[in-house]
Amino acid sequence: MTLWNRIETLIQQTLSQGGPVLFLTGAGLSAESGIPTFRGQDGYWTIGSRHYRPMELATYAQFSRTPGPVWSWYLSRRATYANTQPNSGHQAIVDIEKVLGQRFLLVTQNVDGLHQAAGSSDTKTLPIHGNIHKKRCFATCTTEVSSLPGLDKLPGNNPDLTEQEIAYLTCDRCGSWFRPHVLWFDESYNEEWYHYHTAITAAARASLLVIVGTSGATNLPIQMGQLAARQGAAIIDINPDRGHFASVAERSSRGEHIQTSAGEALPKLAEMFRRIIGEPPHPLES
Ligand SMILES: [Zn+2]
Repeated sequence: MTLWNRIETLIQQTLSQGGPVLFLTGAGLSAESGIPTFRGQDGYWTIGSRHYRPMELATYAQFSRTPGPVWSWYLSRRATYANTQPNSGHQAIVDIEKVLGQRFLLVTQNVDGLHQAAGSSDTKTLPIHGNIHKKRCFATCTTEVSSLPGLDKLPGNNPDLTEQEIAYLTCDRCGSWFRPHVLWFDESYNEEWYHYHTAITAAARASLLVIVGTSGATNLPIQMGQLAARQGAAIIDINPDRGHFASVAERSSRGEHIQTSAGEALPKLAEMFRRIIGEPPHPLES
């Protein structure tokens, strides 16, 4: 049997079993839209006379020391996202959500909001590392998360914030700074902001886990993969590179690694779900 024949059989089996179908997406999917991964020089930011790496900037400790310059870095990152669009992989996941309905759940490590921009629903999308287009009070006078107004510094701009920007980034309830609604490197997952228990529970109950563009470098995705594999879920890993989850899929008796881009593999997968579930084609396309 070819790879895609085996995958079709796997999907037929899991759909007849019941149980949630869980998608877990990571940086590889966003990279296909041109979102930088910040592993190279492009993520560096200068505060005073020192150059900081993203892993130093995206921390509670650094924000506590220099909130203004850390905000400048986030606003500059957002500016580099401004011209990016969801790709065919994001679109295919929207199609799969429509076909699967209540059985579908999406867990994403990406903070760029491209899934929601493509049309994935808020109720079925769990951004476990937060969303760079949102903010919340740094002093936690309220746990509420709100959207961030359109403040976009261009890369290379002066890292100093304007008075107007500072006013926008100040909590109107308590006068503290707002902070970006993202999980920092020195922070822990929780349910309230990062859907930790929902993601873990879904992984333990899933009949199929599809992992897209994820190297497996972070803790929660690794836990989710282990839980799903232990419960006997089918596992499909989509990644042009061989990472942690390729081995997880191949060690499992019900796993496959698809070694292509998400933009190529996901539309095929969406077509397969549609065919198996037997949804009639959209009237405009027939
Ligand atoms: Zn506040």
